[in-house]
Amino acid sequence: MISRNDCIQMDQADDLANLKNEFSLPDNVIYLDGNSLGARPKAALTRAQEVVTQEWGMDLIRSWNKAGWFDLPSRLGDQLAPLIGAGRDEVVVTDSTSINLFKALAAALHMQAAQAQTASRRVIVTERSNFPTDVYIAQGLSRWLDRGYHLRLVDAPEDLHAAIDRDVAVVMLTHVNYRSGHLLDMKTLTAHAHAQGAMMIWDLAHSAGALPVALNDANADFAVGCTYKYLNGGPGSPAFIWVAPKHQTQFSHPLSGWWGHATPFTMDPRFTPDPGIRRALCGTQPIVSLAMVQAGLDVFAKTNIEALRRKSLALSDLFIELVEARCAAHPLALVTPRNHAQRGSHVSITHPQGYAVMQALIARSVIGDYREPEIMRFGLTPLYLGFTDVWDAVEVLRDILDRQDFNANQSRDAVT
Ligand SMILES: *Cc1c(COP(=O)(O)O)cnc(C)c1O
Repeated sequence: MISRNDCIQMDQADDLANLKNEFSLPDNVIYLDGNSLGARPKAALTRAQEVVTQEWGMDLIRSWNKAGWFDLPSRLGDQLAPLIGAGRDEVVVTDSTSINLFKALAAALHMQAAQAQTASRRVIVTERSNFPTDVYIAQGLSRWLDRGYHLRLVDAPEDLHAAIDRDVAVVMLTHVNYRSGHLLDMKTLTAHAHAQGAMMIWDLAHSAGALPVALNDANADFAVGCTYKYLNGGPGSPAFIWVAPKHQTQFSHPLSGWWGHATPFTMDPRFTPDPGIRRALCGTQPIVSLAMVQAGLDVFAKTNIEALRRKSLALSDLFIELVEARCAAHPLALVTPRNHAQRGSHVSITHPQGYAVMQALIARSVIGDYREPEIMRFGLTPLYLGFTDVWDAVEVLRDILDRQDFNANQSRDAVT
């Protein structure tokens, strides 16, 4: 059995351990929720002060040019691209994941409707357990189009293959499931969707910055994702949208605002889309929040995603092993796959009183979160977590369970 001393030695041998110094975290907190809101890079505060006092305060409107505000969505997109296996001029950081998904899905449906072989297709495939906003956006767009589009909700990852047939216009999947932590095989599923004549959209909310993603290698069509989770861009920081190079001159979406125009400042009443990825933009961006994304991305320049993935899997292996060994007497069940090829960077465990147990953990500064039904989520973020943190977190969990030190009757907060 692994001891706490073994974990201390693992931290001492860990080449990535010093990356924790890039972040500002409260003392004595073990933060296991980087999958939901990443920790604050120290540089974010300096950057915020610079944007607010100098760029906004002193340079005022001149900053759109002088501080490069106008180009920021593309510059950040280029900085992010290597983390998701994309190239230059293929990604912009803008809007929210929900909105970007709307744009990508609308664009994909439109492209399918324009081709004789796929024009009659009306099925959009996704997982029933997908993050609800993804499902809601697809339902909302389908209803709004009023052309008979409808969702085929698949219940288990192993049923996806059969569900993607020649009736399907678009497959829209989340790479790592927010609840189970299940990682899908992007390359195989994309190839299968294409073989059936469907287009493929990937939501990378729980994979960008957490594990290597290879969009171009997988030959995907569109992708979206968050920057406030593993990319540490700050609460509600703008999301990203990627469009495959082969689609860039063809794709169009309904939110054709002036930032997507080829020459916004000609103030032309006719919309001429930007020739490239900037046509995915809509309107003026939240610059203060957008600027924080850079502080998050800069940290990744100090390491590489393969090394982060190795450590993430080592942390989650350790977490699973310790929970099973030390909390064996309690009604816990592992939801996340043990197989590395199917595991993201968080571990989900059920307990009949999952919400209450999580609240007890948070009260003792071990911060994870709770998702219905019964699921406690523990994000194992290699940038700022060590092996000893994992040991200590499991020790607190064991103590809470052994002493039944949780309140099963407490009311729920608005955010769980
Ligand atoms: C976190 C998450 C979102 C969040 O979407 P917002 O528009 O930022 O609220 C969307 N989809 C998935 C799969 C997520 O995990």
